[in-house]
Amino acid sequence: MKELSNCENCGKLFITKSQRVCIRCYKESEMLLKKITAYLDKNPKTNLHTLVAATSIPGKKIISLIKKGRIRLGPYPALHYPCEMCGAPVMNGKICSSCRNRLKEDLRKAEHAVIHEKAASAVYSLAQTTNRKSGDDGEN
Ligand SMILES: [Zn+2]
Ligand SMILES: [Zn+2]
Repeated sequence: MKELSNCENCGKLFITKSQRVCIRCYKESEMLLKKITAYLDKNPKTNLHTLVAATSIPGKKIISLIKKGRIRLGPYPALHYPCEMCGAPVMNGKICSSCRNRLKEDLRKAEHAVIHEKAASAVYSLAQTTNRKSGDDGEN
């Protein structure tokens, strides 16, 4: 099914089946990708700084391609970028593993607190029903 959508990259309205960027941006990113991978093939130990200088592609664009999973950093360990939270080197996703663990821990704590709250209110309502029940029993 074709529908109108805004390009994720430039915001232009375009007709899409499933693509999230317009044809112009798609072609552009394919071209950038070709340029980047061609350079990486020859210089697997390059870092982001050198890659930017060599390809004259803005670091932001390279990072966004990495974050989208278009460039896999496995074979190019020097090509990392800063974590969005602490600035530590990251090779996939937006944040480093220690920030990810910290977020997970925070989430777990938050869930724990909610469970505790629920448990507390459950005990409270249980106590109430028990009271009512024993009251009923007394009447019978
Ligand atoms: Zn576009
Ligand atoms: Zn981090």
